[in-house]
Amino acid sequence: MRKNSPEIQDKAMRNEFLIGTVRGNHEGPTVIFVGGIHGNEPSGVQALELVMKELEGEAESLRGTVFALRGNPAALALQERFIDEDLNRLWTIPRVNAIKSGELKPASSEENQQQQLCRLIDEILENESGPFYFFDLHTTSCQTIPFLTVNDMHMNRVYAEQYPVPMILGIEEYLEGPVLSYINELGYVAFGFEAGQHDDPHSVQNQLAFIRLTLSFTGALDRSDLSFQHYYESLKKAASGVNEVYEIFFRYEIDKDELFEMQPGFVNFESVKKDSSLASSNGEILKASRDSSLFMPLYQKQGNDGYFLIRKIPRFILRISDWLRRIRMDHIFPLLPGIRWEDEGKNALVVNKRVARFFAREIFHLFGYRNKVIDQDHIRMKNRETVARKEEYKSAPWFDKL
Ligand SMILES: [Zn+2]
Repeated sequence: MRKNSPEIQDKAMRNEFLIGTVRGNHEGPTVIFVGGIHGNEPSGVQALELVMKELEGEAESLRGTVFALRGNPAALALQERFIDEDLNRLWTIPRVNAIKSGELKPASSEENQQQQLCRLIDEILENESGPFYFFDLHTTSCQTIPFLTVNDMHMNRVYAEQYPVPMILGIEEYLEGPVLSYINELGYVAFGFEAGQHDDPHSVQNQLAFIRLTLSFTGALDRSDLSFQHYYESLKKAASGVNEVYEIFFRYEIDKDELFEMQPGFVNFESVKKDSSLASSNGEILKASRDSSLFMPLYQKQGNDGYFLIRKIPRFILRISDWLRRIRMDHIFPLLPGIRWEDEGKNALVVNKRVARFFAREIFHLFGYRNKVIDQDHIRMKNRETVARKEEYKSAPWFDKL
Protein backbone atom coordinates (compact mmCIF):
# COMPACT_ATOMS: atom_id res chain seq x y z
CA MET A 1 0.00 0.00 0.00
CA ARG A 2 1.31 3.46 -0.85
CA LYS A 3 2.26 5.61 2.06
CA ASN A 4 -0.25 8.32 1.31
CA SER A 5 -3.20 6.06 0.52
CA PRO A 6 -6.48 7.32 2.02
CA GLU A 7 -6.70 4.30 4.28
CA ILE A 8 -3.36 5.00 5.91
CA GLN A 9 -4.14 8.69 6.19
CA ASP A 10 -7.41 7.80 7.84
CA LYS A 11 -5.67 5.51 10.29
CA ALA A 12 -3.06 8.13 11.14
CA MET A 13 -5.82 10.68 11.71
CA ARG A 14 -7.65 8.21 13.91
CA ASN A 15 -4.56 7.58 16.02
CA GLU A 16 -4.16 11.29 16.58
CA PHE A 17 -7.61 11.40 18.17
CA LEU A 18 -7.75 7.98 19.81
CA ILE A 19 -5.70 7.69 23.00
CA GLY A 20 -6.92 4.17 23.50
CA THR A 21 -9.76 1.66 23.78
CA VAL A 22 -10.07 -1.02 26.44
CA ARG A 23 -12.69 -3.75 26.14
CA GLY A 24 -13.81 -5.51 29.26
CA ASN A 25 -14.51 -9.24 29.44
CA HIS A 26 -18.13 -8.63 30.45
CA GLU A 27 -21.11 -6.73 29.07
CA GLY A 28 -21.51 -3.18 30.28
CA PRO A 29 -21.67 0.51 29.43
CA THR A 30 -19.72 2.36 26.75
CA VAL A 31 -17.82 5.13 28.51
CA ILE A 32 -16.24 7.85 26.37
CA PHE A 33 -13.77 10.41 27.73
CA VAL A 34 -12.47 13.41 25.79
CA GLY A 35 -9.47 15.39 26.99
CA GLY A 36 -7.86 18.45 25.46
CA ILE A 37 -10.73 19.82 23.40
CA HIS A 38 -8.96 23.00 24.49
CA GLY A 39 -5.29 22.60 23.55
CA ASN A 40 -3.92 24.46 26.59
CA GLU A 41 -5.62 21.97 28.94
CA PRO A 42 -3.44 18.86 28.71
CA SER A 43 -4.17 17.36 32.15
CA GLY A 44 -7.16 15.34 30.91
CA VAL A 45 -5.09 13.75 28.15
CA GLN A 46 -2.25 12.97 30.56
CA ALA A 47 -4.60 11.32 33.04
CA LEU A 48 -6.34 9.34 30.28
CA GLU A 49 -3.01 8.02 29.02
CA LEU A 50 -2.22 6.76 32.51
CA VAL A 51 -5.63 5.22 33.18
CA MET A 52 -5.86 3.49 29.81
CA LYS A 53 -2.52 1.78 30.48
CA GLU A 54 -3.72 0.65 33.89
CA LEU A 55 -7.02 -0.58 32.48
CA GLU A 56 -5.31 -2.85 30.00
CA GLY A 57 -4.35 -5.00 32.96
CA GLU A 58 -7.89 -4.90 34.36
CA ALA A 59 -9.95 -6.20 31.42
CA GLU A 60 -10.85 -9.19 33.58
CA SER A 61 -12.91 -7.06 35.96
CA LEU A 62 -14.01 -4.41 33.45
CA ARG A 63 -17.59 -4.36 32.14
CA GLY A 64 -18.27 -2.69 28.80
CA THR A 65 -15.82 -0.60 26.81
CA VAL A 66 -13.84 2.54 27.59
CA PHE A 67 -12.75 5.00 24.90
CA ALA A 68 -10.29 7.83 25.52
CA LEU A 69 -10.08 10.59 22.91
CA ARG A 70 -8.01 13.70 22.27
CA GLY A 71 -10.34 16.58 21.40
CA ASN A 72 -8.07 18.96 19.51
CA PRO A 73 -4.71 17.30 18.72
CA ALA A 74 -3.59 20.22 16.52
CA ALA A 75 -4.08 22.78 19.31
CA LEU A 76 -2.67 20.39 21.94
CA ALA A 77 0.54 20.20 19.94
CA LEU A 78 0.83 23.99 20.12
CA GLN A 79 -0.42 24.18 23.72
CA GLU A 80 -2.96 26.81 22.65
CA ARG A 81 -6.64 26.85 23.60
CA PHE A 82 -7.39 26.81 19.87
CA ILE A 83 -5.76 27.69 16.57
CA ASP A 84 -8.52 29.53 14.66
CA GLU A 85 -11.65 29.28 16.79
CA ASP A 86 -12.96 27.57 19.92
CA LEU A 87 -13.64 23.90 19.08
CA ASN A 88 -16.02 23.69 22.01
CA ARG A 89 -18.43 26.23 20.45
CA LEU A 90 -19.02 24.52 17.11
CA TRP A 91 -21.41 21.71 18.02
CA THR A 92 -24.88 23.08 17.28
CA ILE A 93 -27.09 20.46 15.63
CA PRO A 94 -27.48 22.30 12.27
CA ARG A 95 -23.73 22.79 12.07
CA VAL A 96 -22.89 19.19 12.93
CA ASN A 97 -25.42 18.02 10.33
CA ALA A 98 -23.90 20.32 7.71
CA ILE A 99 -20.42 19.00 8.50
CA LYS A 100 -21.64 15.41 8.28
CA SER A 101 -23.49 15.87 5.00
CA GLY A 102 -20.49 17.60 3.45
CA GLU A 103 -22.54 20.76 2.95
CA LEU A 104 -20.09 22.64 5.16
CA LYS A 105 -16.51 22.24 4.01
CA PRO A 106 -14.10 22.65 6.93
CA ALA A 107 -12.37 26.00 6.55
CA SER A 108 -10.58 26.47 9.87
CA SER A 109 -8.24 24.19 11.80
CA GLU A 110 -10.99 23.56 14.35
CA GLU A 111 -13.63 22.77 11.73
CA ASN A 112 -11.21 20.19 10.44
CA GLN A 113 -10.69 18.73 13.89
CA GLN A 114 -14.43 18.75 14.49
CA GLN A 115 -15.05 16.73 11.34
CA GLN A 116 -12.58 14.03 12.43
CA LEU A 117 -13.75 13.94 16.03
CA CYS A 118 -17.38 13.83 14.98
CA ARG A 119 -16.68 10.90 12.68
CA LEU A 120 -15.01 9.01 15.51
CA ILE A 121 -17.83 9.71 17.97
CA ASP A 122 -20.45 8.64 15.41
CA GLU A 123 -18.54 5.46 14.72
CA ILE A 124 -18.55 4.63 18.43
CA LEU A 125 -22.26 5.39 18.81
CA GLU A 126 -23.07 3.25 15.77
CA ASN A 127 -20.89 0.23 16.52
CA GLU A 128 -21.02 -0.06 20.31
CA SER A 129 -23.95 -0.91 22.52
CA GLY A 130 -25.26 1.43 25.17
CA PRO A 131 -25.82 2.77 27.66
CA PHE A 132 -23.47 5.53 26.53
CA TYR A 133 -21.71 7.98 28.82
CA PHE A 134 -19.68 10.92 27.63
CA PHE A 135 -17.29 13.04 29.71
CA ASP A 136 -15.39 16.12 28.66
CA LEU A 137 -12.26 16.87 30.71
CA HIS A 138 -11.18 20.48 31.17
CA THR A 139 -9.22 22.88 33.38
CA THR A 140 -9.65 26.61 34.01
CA SER A 141 -7.39 29.67 33.81
CA CYS A 142 -8.24 30.66 37.40
CA GLN A 143 -7.41 28.76 40.59
CA THR A 144 -10.31 26.49 41.46
CA ILE A 145 -11.56 23.47 43.32
CA PRO A 146 -12.72 20.75 40.90
CA PHE A 147 -16.35 20.96 39.72
CA LEU A 148 -18.85 19.59 37.19
CA THR A 149 -20.61 21.57 34.45
CA VAL A 150 -23.92 19.87 33.81
CA ASN A 151 -26.69 20.57 31.31
CA ASP A 152 -29.85 20.58 33.35
CA MET A 153 -31.41 17.35 32.14
CA HIS A 154 -32.89 15.37 35.04
CA MET A 155 -31.00 12.19 34.18
CA ASN A 156 -27.68 14.06 33.92
CA ARG A 157 -28.26 15.72 37.23
CA VAL A 158 -29.15 12.54 39.10
CA TYR A 159 -26.13 10.73 37.72
CA ALA A 160 -23.80 13.66 38.45
CA GLU A 161 -24.96 13.99 42.06
CA GLN A 162 -22.84 10.94 42.88
CA TYR A 163 -19.57 12.90 42.72
CA PRO A 164 -18.28 14.66 45.87
CA VAL A 165 -17.73 17.99 44.04
CA PRO A 166 -19.92 21.03 43.27
CA MET A 167 -22.17 20.98 40.22
CA ILE A 168 -22.95 23.96 38.00
CA LEU A 169 -26.24 23.79 36.13
CA GLY A 170 -27.39 25.73 33.13
CA ILE A 171 -24.18 26.66 31.37
CA GLU A 172 -25.81 25.55 28.10
CA GLU A 173 -28.08 28.57 28.21
CA TYR A 174 -25.07 30.84 27.95
CA LEU A 175 -22.76 28.95 25.63
CA GLU A 176 -23.51 28.12 22.04
CA GLY A 177 -22.33 24.77 20.77
CA PRO A 178 -20.30 22.94 23.45
CA VAL A 179 -19.75 19.30 22.47
CA LEU A 180 -21.61 18.18 25.62
CA SER A 181 -24.82 19.85 24.55
CA TYR A 182 -24.60 18.01 21.25
CA ILE A 183 -24.32 14.64 23.02
CA ASN A 184 -27.14 15.61 25.40
CA GLU A 185 -29.33 16.45 22.42
CA LEU A 186 -28.77 12.88 21.27
CA GLY A 187 -30.25 11.80 24.61
CA TYR A 188 -27.18 10.50 26.46
CA VAL A 189 -25.64 11.28 29.84
CA ALA A 190 -22.86 13.79 29.15
CA PHE A 191 -21.20 16.51 31.16
CA GLY A 192 -17.94 18.28 31.82
CA PHE A 193 -15.37 17.99 34.57
CA GLU A 194 -13.10 20.92 35.39
CA ALA A 195 -10.18 19.52 37.36
CA GLY A 196 -8.42 22.70 38.53
CA GLN A 197 -6.10 25.34 37.13
CA HIS A 198 -4.43 24.56 33.75
CA ASP A 199 -0.86 24.14 35.06
CA ASP A 200 -1.56 22.98 38.59
CA PRO A 201 -0.05 19.47 39.01
CA HIS A 202 -3.05 18.57 41.19
CA SER A 203 -5.26 18.87 38.12
CA VAL A 204 -3.87 15.61 36.70
CA GLN A 205 -4.53 13.89 40.04
CA ASN A 206 -8.10 15.21 40.07
CA GLN A 207 -8.67 14.06 36.49
CA LEU A 208 -7.41 10.61 37.49
CA ALA A 209 -9.77 10.47 40.46
CA PHE A 210 -12.70 11.65 38.33
CA ILE A 211 -12.03 9.05 35.62
CA ARG A 212 -11.69 6.24 38.17
CA LEU A 213 -14.86 7.23 40.04
CA THR A 214 -16.70 7.49 36.74
CA LEU A 215 -15.80 3.91 35.89
CA SER A 216 -17.39 2.82 39.17
CA PHE A 217 -20.46 5.10 38.97
CA THR A 218 -21.29 3.92 35.45
CA GLY A 219 -20.94 0.29 36.55
CA ALA A 220 -17.86 -0.40 34.38
CA LEU A 221 -15.87 -1.27 37.51
CA ASP A 222 -16.92 -2.46 40.94
CA ARG A 223 -17.25 -0.05 43.79
CA SER A 224 -15.83 -2.59 46.19
CA ASP A 225 -12.57 -1.99 44.37
CA LEU A 226 -10.19 -0.70 47.03
CA SER A 227 -9.11 2.23 44.91
CA PHE A 228 -12.71 3.55 44.77
CA GLN A 229 -12.64 4.82 48.35
CA HIS A 230 -9.19 6.27 47.84
CA TYR A 231 -10.22 8.29 44.78
CA TYR A 232 -13.52 9.32 46.34
CA GLU A 233 -11.77 10.76 49.39
CA SER A 234 -9.09 12.40 47.30
CA LEU A 235 -11.63 14.22 45.09
CA LYS A 236 -13.74 15.20 48.08
CA LYS A 237 -10.69 16.68 49.72
CA ALA A 238 -9.69 18.55 46.56
CA ALA A 239 -13.18 20.12 46.52
CA SER A 240 -12.75 21.13 50.19
CA GLY A 241 -15.95 19.25 51.00
CA VAL A 242 -18.06 21.59 48.82
CA ASN A 243 -20.67 19.63 46.86
CA GLU A 244 -23.48 22.12 46.43
CA VAL A 245 -25.51 22.59 43.26
CA TYR A 246 -25.32 26.04 41.65
CA GLU A 247 -27.11 27.78 38.83
CA ILE A 248 -25.60 30.34 36.50
CA PHE A 249 -27.60 33.55 36.24
CA PHE A 250 -25.18 35.89 34.49
CA ARG A 251 -22.43 35.70 31.91
CA TYR A 252 -20.18 38.58 30.98
CA GLU A 253 -19.36 38.24 27.29
CA ILE A 254 -16.28 40.00 25.95
CA ASP A 255 -16.73 41.82 22.65
CA LYS A 256 -14.31 41.38 19.78
CA ASP A 257 -12.28 44.54 20.23
CA GLU A 258 -12.96 45.04 23.90
CA LEU A 259 -10.11 45.52 26.33
CA PHE A 260 -11.13 43.25 29.20
CA GLU A 261 -9.24 42.70 32.38
CA MET A 262 -10.29 40.75 35.44
CA GLN A 263 -9.33 42.24 38.79
CA PRO A 264 -6.40 40.16 40.01
CA GLY A 265 -6.59 37.47 42.68
CA PHE A 266 -10.13 36.12 42.40
CA VAL A 267 -10.55 32.39 42.92
CA ASN A 268 -13.41 30.38 41.52
CA PHE A 269 -16.60 30.24 43.67
CA GLU A 270 -15.44 33.31 45.61
CA SER A 271 -18.37 35.14 47.26
CA VAL A 272 -18.86 38.65 45.95
CA LYS A 273 -21.06 41.41 47.36
CA LYS A 274 -23.44 43.49 45.27
CA ASP A 275 -21.60 46.40 43.61
CA SER A 276 -18.12 45.06 44.31
CA SER A 277 -15.79 45.58 41.34
CA LEU A 278 -14.93 42.49 39.37
CA ALA A 279 -13.23 43.54 36.16
CA SER A 280 -12.66 46.41 33.77
CA SER A 281 -13.94 46.84 30.23
CA ASN A 282 -12.18 49.49 28.14
CA GLY A 283 -11.15 51.16 31.36
CA GLU A 284 -14.63 51.08 32.90
CA ILE A 285 -15.28 49.13 36.10
CA LEU A 286 -17.68 46.16 35.97
CA LYS A 287 -19.58 45.43 39.20
CA ALA A 288 -21.52 42.49 40.62
CA SER A 289 -25.27 42.96 40.12
CA ARG A 290 -26.10 41.18 43.41
CA ASP A 291 -24.60 39.13 46.23
CA SER A 292 -23.49 35.91 44.58
CA SER A 293 -20.48 33.74 43.77
CA LEU A 294 -18.01 34.54 41.04
CA PHE A 295 -17.54 31.72 38.56
CA MET A 296 -14.75 31.11 36.02
CA PRO A 297 -13.08 34.55 36.04
CA LEU A 298 -10.94 34.75 32.89
CA TYR A 299 -7.20 34.98 33.48
CA GLN A 300 -5.98 34.12 30.00
CA LYS A 301 -5.93 35.94 26.66
CA GLN A 302 -8.03 33.53 24.59
CA GLY A 303 -11.75 33.06 25.17
CA ASN A 304 -14.73 35.42 25.35
CA ASP A 305 -16.38 34.39 28.62
CA GLY A 306 -15.21 37.15 30.96
CA TYR A 307 -16.84 35.70 34.06
CA PHE A 308 -20.09 34.20 35.27
CA LEU A 309 -22.15 34.80 38.41
CA ILE A 310 -23.80 31.83 40.11
CA ARG A 311 -26.10 31.12 43.05
CA LYS A 312 -26.79 28.02 45.12
CA ILE A 313 -29.93 25.98 44.46
CA PRO A 314 -31.28 24.44 47.68
CA ARG A 315 -31.65 20.66 47.51
CA PHE A 316 -35.38 20.76 48.26
CA ILE A 317 -35.90 22.88 45.14
CA LEU A 318 -34.04 20.24 43.15
CA ARG A 319 -36.30 17.52 44.52
CA ILE A 320 -39.43 19.53 43.69
CA SER A 321 -38.06 20.04 40.21
CA ASP A 322 -37.38 16.27 39.85
CA TRP A 323 -40.98 15.57 40.77
CA LEU A 324 -42.48 18.20 38.46
CA ARG A 325 -40.50 16.79 35.57
CA ARG A 326 -41.40 13.20 36.35
CA ILE A 327 -45.13 13.90 36.27
CA ARG A 328 -44.77 16.18 33.21
CA MET A 329 -46.49 19.02 34.99
CA ASP A 330 -45.33 21.35 32.21
CA HIS A 331 -48.31 20.18 30.15
CA ILE A 332 -50.44 22.75 31.93
CA PHE A 333 -48.43 25.66 30.48
CA PRO A 334 -50.20 25.79 27.10
CA LEU A 335 -53.51 26.19 28.93
CA LEU A 336 -52.32 29.67 29.88
CA PRO A 337 -52.73 32.65 27.57
CA GLY A 338 -49.61 33.61 25.61
CA ILE A 339 -48.03 30.14 25.80
CA ARG A 340 -48.34 27.44 23.13
CA TRP A 341 -46.54 24.31 21.98
CA GLU A 342 -44.19 25.00 19.10
CA ASP A 343 -45.45 21.89 17.26
CA GLU A 344 -47.11 18.51 17.71
CA GLY A 345 -43.96 17.02 19.22
CA LYS A 346 -44.53 19.11 22.38
CA ASN A 347 -40.79 19.51 22.92
CA ALA A 348 -40.74 23.28 22.97
CA LEU A 349 -43.00 26.11 24.10
CA VAL A 350 -43.36 29.46 22.40
CA VAL A 351 -43.93 32.06 25.07
CA ASN A 352 -45.05 35.63 24.53
CA LYS A 353 -42.50 37.89 26.20
CA ARG A 354 -45.18 39.86 28.04
CA VAL A 355 -46.30 36.60 29.67
CA ALA A 356 -42.73 35.49 30.31
CA ARG A 357 -42.25 38.58 32.42
CA PHE A 358 -44.76 37.22 34.92
CA PHE A 359 -43.15 33.81 34.96
CA ALA A 360 -39.58 34.18 36.10
CA ARG A 361 -37.13 32.17 34.08
CA GLU A 362 -36.54 30.09 37.23
CA ILE A 363 -40.05 28.68 36.95
CA PHE A 364 -39.36 27.30 33.49
CA HIS A 365 -36.02 25.94 34.70
CA LEU A 366 -37.80 23.94 37.40
CA PHE A 367 -39.74 22.20 34.65
CA GLY A 368 -36.63 21.43 32.62
CA TYR A 369 -36.87 24.17 30.02
CA ARG A 370 -34.07 26.29 28.64
CA ASN A 371 -34.78 29.47 26.76
CA LYS A 372 -33.66 31.23 23.62
CA VAL A 373 -35.07 34.48 22.32
CA ILE A 374 -36.53 33.93 18.85
CA ASP A 375 -37.91 37.36 17.99
CA GLN A 376 -38.86 40.65 19.56
CA ASP A 377 -42.04 39.30 21.09
CA HIS A 378 -41.37 35.62 21.70
CA ILE A 379 -39.10 33.27 23.58
CA ARG A 380 -38.65 29.66 22.61
CA MET A 381 -38.43 27.36 25.62
CA LYS A 382 -36.99 23.98 24.80
CA ASN A 383 -37.63 21.01 27.04
CA ARG A 384 -34.41 19.20 27.83
CA GLU A 385 -36.20 16.09 29.06
CA THR A 386 -37.99 14.83 25.98
CA VAL A 387 -34.84 13.54 24.23
CA ALA A 388 -33.45 11.66 27.27
CA ARG A 389 -33.02 7.93 26.55
CA LYS A 390 -33.80 6.94 30.12
CA GLU A 391 -34.78 3.38 29.23
CA GLU A 392 -31.26 2.60 28.04
CA TYR A 393 -29.87 3.22 31.54
CA LYS A 394 -32.25 0.81 33.26
CA SER A 395 -29.54 -1.54 34.46
CA ALA A 396 -27.23 1.27 35.60
CA PRO A 397 -26.34 1.26 39.32
CA TRP A 398 -27.76 4.77 39.80
CA PHE A 399 -31.01 4.26 37.87
CA ASP A 400 -33.16 3.73 40.98
CA LYS A 401 -32.51 7.33 42.00
CA LEU A 402 -34.23 8.65 38.87
ZN1 LIG B 1 -11.68 24.03 28.58
